[in-house]
Amino acid sequence: MAIFDKFRPLARMRRELAESGIASIHVVMDRVVSATEAFINGRPVILAGTNNYLGLTFDPDCIEAACEAVRTLGTGTTGSRVANGSYAAHEQLERDLAAFFGKRGVIVFSTGYVANLGMLSTLAGPGDAFVIDADCHASIYDGVRLSGAEIFRFRHNDPEDLDKRLRRLGGRAENAIVVVEGIYSMWGDRAPLAEIAAVKRRYPGALLVVDEAHSLGVLGERGRGRAEEAGVEAEVDFVIGTFSKSLGAIGGYCASDHPELDLIRYANRPYIFTASPSPAIIASTRAALRILASRPELRERLWENSRRLYGRLERLGFRLGPEPSPIIAVRFAAREEAHAAWMRLMEHGVYVNLVLPPATPDGGSLLRCSVSAGHSPEQIERIGDAFQTLAA
Ligand code: PMP
Repeated sequence: MAIFDKFRPLARMRRELAESGIASIHVVMDRVVSATEAFINGRPVILAGTNNYLGLTFDPDCIEAACEAVRTLGTGTTGSRVANGSYAAHEQLERDLAAFFGKRGVIVFSTGYVANLGMLSTLAGPGDAFVIDADCHASIYDGVRLSGAEIFRFRHNDPEDLDKRLRRLGGRAENAIVVVEGIYSMWGDRAPLAEIAAVKRRYPGALLVVDEAHSLGVLGERGRGRAEEAGVEAEVDFVIGTFSKSLGAIGGYCASDHPELDLIRYANRPYIFTASPSPAIIASTRAALRILASRPELRERLWENSRRLYGRLERLGFRLGPEPSPIIAVRFAAREEAHAAWMRLMEHGVYVNLVLPPATPDGGSLLRCSVSAGHSPEQIERIGDAFQTLAA
């Protein structure tokens, strides 16, 4: 097979999408004016397809912190921390995050994707075993593949199936790493983390990694995520997450009590061989973390908005994800139907994510809404009104 031949199936898929009228999924925002509003093709839209859970992308303190950092430290670090050195702010952010999570140490990465890639590929190697939830994010799949360890999948959110897979490993279970997410990115459902932690406890030596990308700032009394909400933080060996959702920037982290975490930094190729986060990112993330920790009312507003929209869409008769959550997935029978619905919502000034197979876990087509604390009650109503035109 010649080099470019492997792209033929992709070309065919894109052609089929275009022929079925699904050509308009390439969205460009001319202008973004707030955490919840933008202009697309010259028309104002409500943004309901971001992961801007706390609405902090336009927070004045975060913006000011970023501007000040650019003025005093420049626009970029232009290199890796291992080769070029850390900025004091990198270490300050790691200390802030460690204090926030109550963990001994933290490593900051350039994105959440790189955090999963780096941690998972470094933690395990040939001879070890990953046991991961089947619905895990692509960055988890890529990280475990890069490790060279053997990969076993258990049925989504099924602790009994996890137990079965670990039992089958026999003595190798002591070299097993279980990986799950706090809230799953497509359906918005939470991991049964107390039950998963209980299973892990039955296998001495096994480790538990939780990706809290969609649950940081969203779940838990202090916003630390699903592990806090489920009361099992002490059972989680490595918490991984991103700055690109509730913290409104870009970057990733891993927090752990294991003293080996700092050593892992120096064996971690995706950490070593990429440039470190820029001063503006570090500064706005530190400011956002302070807000996340000190303003629980944002979390309350997020949940109020989420429950209101979920309830409205449920009453309209849409097929939704299993539980109210800031990620509200609306299922459609066919991709053409999902696309037509997405177009109609755009005509009514509402932008959500169109997710088509193969990107969906079960091959279905869906519109994925993500709710923000930044949405006003009127905006939530208008999103509901737009969906009502579909139901009608
Ligand atoms: N983990 C999960 C569960 C995610 O949904 C995402 C992003 N969608 C990531 C990791 C990667 O985060 P980032 O955007 O910071 O690379």
